Amino acid sequence: MGISTSVYIGAFLRIPCFTRVEPAQPAGCGRRCGAQVPAGSRFCPACGARAQGPQPERTRQVKPRPYDLDDEAADSLFWTPEYIDGGENATVWLPNERGTGTVVNADGGSATLSLRELDLNALQARYANEWAHVLERIRERFGVTAEVDVGVVVYSH
Ligand SMILES: [Zn+2]
Repeated sequence: MGISTSVYIGAFLRIPCFTRVEPAQPAGCGRRCGAQVPAGSRFCPACGARAQGPQPERTRQVKPRPYDLDDEAADSLFWTPEYIDGGENATVWLPNERGTGTVVNADGGSATLSLRELDLNALQARYANEWAHVLERIRERFGVTAEVDVGVVVYSH
């Protein structure tokens, strides 16, 4: 078992992390039988299962993943490597579509890629346009503004 490292060069999305408040939960049955469990009880009075909670209100930091969009058409366009750092409080989504960028696998051997012909501003504008519906969905669903960036993403998998 090992961790491989790949290098992606091209357009990608950078999505700021955000916080979500999870409301407090009253005490309940661990088997979810529906019975009311009095505060302080360790077991459900109806079915005898272990009681759960109560849980105080919690604030959780969310690193959004494409499937969190709850929009199959948009989420199928992107994926997120398991080990990735999108910078300070952000996450990175890479496009699934071939031709958007180039992946160089660094698992042995070497590769070269000339970037001289790349017009970074034109690429950024092109994908900001192509992914406009995804950016809109991210705004709607997460309340944050994603950035279309063009560059080098190094990730392990
Ligand atoms: Zn129960």
